[in-house]
Amino acid sequence: MSIFFSENHKKLKPYTPGEQPRERKYIKLNTNESPYPPSPSVIEAAKAEAGRLNLYSDPTLADLTKTASEHYGLPEEYFLFTNGSDEILNFAFCAYGDSDHPFVFPDLTYGFYPVFADYNRVPYEIIPLEDDFSIDEEKYVNIEKNIVIANPNAPTGLYLELEKIEKIISTNPNNIVIIDEAYIDFGGESAINLVKKYKNLIVTRTFSKSFSLAGARLGFGAADPELIRDLNTIKYSTNPYNVNRMTSATGVAALRDADYYTSNARSVANTREWVKQELKNRGFCVTDSRANFIFASHPTISGEDFYLKLRENGILVRYFKGVERIKNYNRITIGSRDEMEEFVKIADLILKNQK
Ligand SMILES: *Cc1c(COP(=O)(O)O)cnc(C)c1O
Repeated sequence: MSIFFSENHKKLKPYTPGEQPRERKYIKLNTNESPYPPSPSVIEAAKAEAGRLNLYSDPTLADLTKTASEHYGLPEEYFLFTNGSDEILNFAFCAYGDSDHPFVFPDLTYGFYPVFADYNRVPYEIIPLEDDFSIDEEKYVNIEKNIVIANPNAPTGLYLELEKIEKIISTNPNNIVIIDEAYIDFGGESAINLVKKYKNLIVTRTFSKSFSLAGARLGFGAADPELIRDLNTIKYSTNPYNVNRMTSATGVAALRDADYYTSNARSVANTREWVKQELKNRGFCVTDSRANFIFASHPTISGEDFYLKLRENGILVRYFKGVERIKNYNRITIGSRDEMEEFVKIADLILKNQK
């Protein structure tokens, strides 16, 4: 750290992204990317836009917003597109958090929430998940703090029914409730239509998972137009051109190709159910994930050992080092069926060689 680094940020502990190794070819099951490439029309859209990169992008992202409005059946004023959904989450912590308006979220959830809070100097409180990793919605009723919940949650994959989500939103009318739906396309019912009913709700979505665009960086928030105006104030105070031309063109093309992505999400969900069963047959404890990953532990091998042995065998998964409560767990992204068959084969090998 240099002597110049601001007091405000000296103590910041940044988020640690999953490894993106370049030294050897791994089966990458560690960052919840899609195993499927973008659709051909998305690739074409990116190429077509490349020739116009001398020009700034449209700060209002009018084409993308219009396409999303048609796709999701909400008026255009309900959307704000960002550089990944991480950016809309950061905007929301920035816009709505302060010492009188702390945030609450579970102990086991997306690791970026505490970082966004610290970065924006917003206090936060943790509500531990139940022993089975579920969320007890009653603990969020009338809590009078801003709330962020990933649904399905990460890294557990557990889904909270929409009625329970709605109860949390409706009983906290004086605070913001963010529902982070990064994984909703793989299972569960979205809260996105509730943004018309509740003025305190922000639903965030990403194109990184179900839309095969992790490398493009695209996400959005859907919320009451008044909230969207607040969030735009943050956007125009930091980076008006937050979504680049190529990315916004790929977003339009991806939404128009929704059938391709819906079918891929279905394949991922089918493979997920197959892997769950295979692991259970081998004695693993597996949560009922509705996302594009599973969360699993085994009674005879520690989470770290399993992670390291998989790595030696060319398979990368996500191990959350130092998080005591889940030290025997790994989060395993659902890859293609072939990749997952290989994963199961290697898992067998590891279990067999333990003795
Ligand atoms: C992946 C993920 C995001 C953000 O993804 P972006 O790539 O920034 O769009 C947000 N929330 C959760 C829970 C995620 O898993």
